[in-house]
Amino acid sequence: MSSKETLPGDKIAIIEEFETGQNTFDDGQSIRSLVVGLSEFDKTNRIANIKEIKRPSVPKTGNSVIGIVSALMNNMFAISVLYIDGKPTHSGLEVICQARGAKKRILVRVGDVVAAKVINLLNGVIHAIISEPELGVLFTKCNKCAGKVISMGSSVKCADCGYIEERKISSKFGNSDFIKLGSN
Ligand SMILES: [Zn+2]
Repeated sequence: MSSKETLPGDKIAIIEEFETGQNTFDDGQSIRSLVVGLSEFDKTNRIANIKEIKRPSVPKTGNSVIGIVSALMNNMFAISVLYIDGKPTHSGLEVICQARGAKKRILVRVGDVVAAKVINLLNGVIHAIISEPELGVLFTKCNKCAGKVISMGSSVKCADCGYIEERKISSKFGNSDFIKLGSN
């Protein structure tokens, strides 16, 4: 049986043929969907079901996002989003941050946990910034030895090997809540 996408209220069967199952209701004549989903017909038991499709949540302008830097390019980088305004998301969504200003430095590395703010959504691309004080790197490791690093304001220093590297560090760097968020 092929299943087709349904919207709430869509008629998926008539009551003479099927009974209501998951995520459906009967309006006296038809079986209709309660949710966005895919229709599934249990022909043996004559039950119509809708398998709900969870829509990925998309951040809006002004939302804060937390994620892991997934790619680094010349003057931009991508963040694979884990949290939108503190709520976990599993949609595999990415936002793009662009380096601005004369120096166009990018002060993150792939694998860093960063906080960013969404500034606009253009042509299907979600643009974010890390320039505000609370935005930027929340958690990172030493690039040389993967050791624990400490914040030095505009750089991080490895507690093990002493290697120092620049970062755009969030004012919330090292906050244990964010470390917990990042590993959940
Ligand atoms: Zn190190």
